[in-house]
Amino acid sequence: MTGIFGLQNVNEIHLFKPKYRRGECLLEIGECLDRGWTGLGYKTIEFEDKWKDYSGYKNAHFLNSSTSGLFLTLELFRDKYGWGRHCQVITTPLTFVSTNHAILNAGLTPVFADVDETLNLSPASVEQLINESTVAVMFVGIGGNPDNYREISHLCKRYGLRMILDAAHMAGTKTDNSHYGTTCDAAIYSFQAVKNLPISDSGMVCFLEEDDDHIARKRSWLGIDKDTFSRTSSDRRYKFRYNVEYISNKYHGNALAACLGIVGLRYLDEDNNRRRQLRGLYTTLLSGNENIHIVQHCTRTPHSSKTSAHLFQIVLLRCSRDNLIEEMNDRGIFPGVHYISNLQYSAYKGFQNSCPRANEYSNSLMSLPLHLFLTDDDVRYVARSILEIIANNLA
Ligand SMILES: *Cc1c(COP(=O)(O)O)cnc(C)c1O
Repeated sequence: MTGIFGLQNVNEIHLFKPKYRRGECLLEIGECLDRGWTGLGYKTIEFEDKWKDYSGYKNAHFLNSSTSGLFLTLELFRDKYGWGRHCQVITTPLTFVSTNHAILNAGLTPVFADVDETLNLSPASVEQLINESTVAVMFVGIGGNPDNYREISHLCKRYGLRMILDAAHMAGTKTDNSHYGTTCDAAIYSFQAVKNLPISDSGMVCFLEEDDDHIARKRSWLGIDKDTFSRTSSDRRYKFRYNVEYISNKYHGNALAACLGIVGLRYLDEDNNRRRQLRGLYTTLLSGNENIHIVQHCTRTPHSSKTSAHLFQIVLLRCSRDNLIEEMNDRGIFPGVHYISNLQYSAYKGFQNSCPRANEYSNSLMSLPLHLFLTDDDVRYVARSILEIIANNLA
């Protein structure tokens, strides 16, 4: 039974549960309240700077969601490069709908390539679809997995395409020397409540070009050309005669949300280490079963690559994913599915579906509980339950 107002019952094992360092968060938030500054600027700038130090991105702009960031990026590139409605962005159907809604909302045409066993876009499938109308590739590192990233970025270079990274799952996916995404034209992170660096609702857009970052800062606040904090702090007279350069919308993040990010970032590597341990334990417990295929991460990347381990996903072979989920629910375990192919939604029914693997995974993928409150025993219980249910059903 789900608890009151959808809160989680302590005996249940849920897919996600964000962890916040309450004391440290409240200290940061207290500073905002004392100062009377909870909006754009101040802690938002501090968080952007800390994120740049951590990740190696040259530019980073804090937003109210990654959905905003995806749209802002596509709209900005559309105007910058003069892309019209016929211009095609190659993308994946196996993602959260934000990715593809953004392409459509910006008035561009999504073209769906298929994924491979990494669950990320297949480089071969992408290359087949490139034509004279192609302008960009949207890459999603599912579950934090950087597999195929390098191959796709080589393709983008070779064909002169923009590469946009939906890095919603990838906070902390890096090699010894660099964070994944720093070579993309734009990378967009989500700090939504269940992501690896959970805030509540927030995102970050990281542009390769400084000019794009400047424009995004204006466009994320109705086209106004300066944030209020720098206007009031650098010049004590309120400069109300700012210019408005764009007809845009309001997408920027706020200082209270940034506080949670500043604290969460201190622990991101430590938290991701624990996530990788949990992935390792699941892998040990479930490997060798012929009905389960484990989606590995970092199988085609440089040796020092580390996944953020946002998800642990399995593919069910020869048995029904939906039945398994129901029986797991009966045992108090609540897995998830990332994702159902977007092409199966009615809003996407007009688009060409030549993505057989994405279709197949829509019915057979499952994400197991993965968060920082799980004990090793919880993971053993989940794995044992899966193996028992499958064995009973096939008997
Ligand atoms: C969560 C998610 C988003 C949207 O993030 P928001 O910050 O909630 O807007 C976009 N793409 C993917 C792949 C996601 O998982």
